[in-house]
Amino acid sequence: MPAGAQVKPRYSAFTPTTAKTIYPLRQLAPGVFVVSGDTGKGVEGRPNAGFIDSPAGVLVVGGLASPVQGDAVVRTIRTRSSRPIRWFVLYAHHPDMQFGAIAMKRAGAGIIAHPDANILAAEGGPDQMVADWDQVVGLQEMLGFEFADVPDRPVTAADTLVLGTRRVVVWHPGDAHSPGDLMLWLPDDRILFAGDVLVEDGVTMVIDGSSRELLRVLEAIEQLHPRVIVPGHGRIAFDPQGLIDTTRGYIAALRAAMRAAVEGGVPMRRALAPLPPADEDRPVSLHSRLRRNANRVYVEMEREVMGLGGDQDSLGGKR
Ligand SMILES: [Zn+2]
Repeated sequence: MPAGAQVKPRYSAFTPTTAKTIYPLRQLAPGVFVVSGDTGKGVEGRPNAGFIDSPAGVLVVGGLASPVQGDAVVRTIRTRSSRPIRWFVLYAHHPDMQFGAIAMKRAGAGIIAHPDANILAAEGGPDQMVADWDQVVGLQEMLGFEFADVPDRPVTAADTLVLGTRRVVVWHPGDAHSPGDLMLWLPDDRILFAGDVLVEDGVTMVIDGSSRELLRVLEAIEQLHPRVIVPGHGRIAFDPQGLIDTTRGYIAALRAAMRAAVEGGVPMRRALAPLPPADEDRPVSLHSRLRRNANRVYVEMEREVMGLGGDQDSLGGKR
């Protein structure tokens, strides 16, 4: 085949990170920083990370989609703090959230993660997941990759760390976006690092979690009355209630539509027909997320309507 003749240029969701990249920082409170992902690229852009600098060391949370991105976050932290990096909190076991974790481990961090790594992207096995991800971030960014998602400090409910005078709560709110979701809550500052449980446009992916669980988790987040929410991707929400409401509105409407289809005997293909087609090669574009979620929620509604319940335990193990 003539070189390049049939090859469509790969859609690159993330702006490239190199061995010199330093990411933009935004301080939310004394010692609390967001390492900004791609601004203006919404949910498809590079994820947001963050860190808390304290006399007891640095705790990092992310949003690190490759080892090179992980190193860039370390470099970015070093522009503000020379303290040891003690902990890295893994938001989820999806590649965009964990494939840079090795950089934190090499920098000295212990891994704080939920032990449940069961996600659809891992169904083909770890080698396949890595090969698929090479296609997304490029081999260059994957140099030095090793898995680093096994928790040194597992969290399955909530765990409070005290960093200097600041309390940091690592929280598994439920299986909303994935079974391994963790969020970071700073009660003294009322800042929530939400990971992909919340994303800029409100269209949170539930293909590894559940829409029913997401509604419950949104309620729990609301009860916290956060002042600021850092979503997994996209701009920081300084109007947290707005983001919560948008997400709830979307997911509640989707559940209602899919439930009506199931109850009316409408087959899935027809129920999904009004949605715009998914974007080929862009699995997390808005159109792709709308379709993948609808597919998932249709199946959830079938189970609910059949009285099998919508929660994960009743689905009988692996999905
Ligand atoms: Zn993500």
